[in-house]
Amino acid sequence: MPLTEQQAAEIEVARAQRTETARPTVPALEALLYKAIPVLDHGLVRVIDYMGDDAAIVQAARVSYGRGTRRVSEDSGLIRYLMRHRHSTPFEMCEIKYHVKLPIFVARQWIRHRTANVNEYSARYSILDREFYLPAPEHLAAQSSVNRQGRGDVLEGAEAAHVLDLLREDATRTYDHYAEMLNEDEAGAARDPSRQGLARELARMNLTLNTYTQWYWKIDLHNLFHFLSLRADAHAQYEIRAYADAMLDTVAAWVPVACQAFRDYRLGAVTLSAQMLAAVQRMLAGEAVEQGNSGLNRREWTELTAALGRG
Ligand SMILES: Cc1cc2nc3c(=O)[nH]c(=O)nc-3n(C[C@H](O)[C@H](O)[C@H](O)COP(=O)(O)OP(=O)(O)OC[C@H]3O[C@@H](n4cnc5c(N)ncnc54)[C@H](O)[C@@H]3O)c2cc1C
Repeated sequence: MPLTEQQAAEIEVARAQRTETARPTVPALEALLYKAIPVLDHGLVRVIDYMGDDAAIVQAARVSYGRGTRRVSEDSGLIRYLMRHRHSTPFEMCEIKYHVKLPIFVARQWIRHRTANVNEYSARYSILDREFYLPAPEHLAAQSSVNRQGRGDVLEGAEAAHVLDLLREDATRTYDHYAEMLNEDEAGAARDPSRQGLARELARMNLTLNTYTQWYWKIDLHNLFHFLSLRADAHAQYEIRAYADAMLDTVAAWVPVACQAFRDYRLGAVTLSAQMLAAVQRMLAGEAVEQGNSGLNRREWTELTAALGRG
């Protein structure tokens, strides 16, 4: 678990506090609140706060004075209809705030999602921890020969051991230099009183991208689903997907009906182009459709046959 004893104790104190509220709460998410969900070797995701629930989506869609809910099946049907038809604004009425600890190279992909509010740990103000991401052996993959953005087979034996040594040595060496340039020990005292020490905002620049950073990240449910549709997807890099998968579990606890609709109509769904749909219609009519007569290029054809389980 990537927590110090003090951090774990602070979480327990926060979890023990109770506040009376007239606002709706979700028991399944309350059970997870503040708890650190481990991700990768030193990372974590924690839910810090949230607003709304499945009923809030319904309430907004019906612009109701009260909770706005009717029969469970009607509410569920409405949420699924909204998701199916990309009627997105009712989902924006729910918000969630996470605390995430993640390697800098993952943060760089993550920050491209512009619709969240972010506050990152300041390495101008504080000293970053000596923590680096080292992939587990099963995630130490070779470059894919067919996909320039993907991974191929897992590295094995001496090559895998050598790569792990390089990653560990480089990260350790640059962190040691960082500490030397700062000239500060963990308590903030000068290591060498004869030196001034370089400013924190400058000393950080040679740290490796597998160094862990942290941030608070707040987003509404519509945009969270967009993030998850891209990052909990098989095309996303494993490391960011590990975070997305952990967050998807928290969303399932928070808004189970909306989350299931998302899984059914977005995450597990396939979009067909007009030409793909025409090809499928011809197949269903009994025609022998091949790539050459399908109207699709080779890549589109591969994607279609894979989606249809014929690849
Ligand atoms: C598998 C994968 C590979 C990728 N490869 C690369 C790569 O090689 N290089 C690279 O640079 N990026 C890459 N990306 C990042 C990608 O291009 C997007 O920047 C990232 O996924 C964020 O998507 P988004 O802009 O839709 O999300 P968000 O920023 O969360 O935005 C959500 C939606 O809000 C709207 N929106 C937000 N801000 C604006 C705005 N300012 N103007 C107009 N509309 C806005 C858009 O409709 C957008 O889709 C990759 C992403 C994935 C998932």
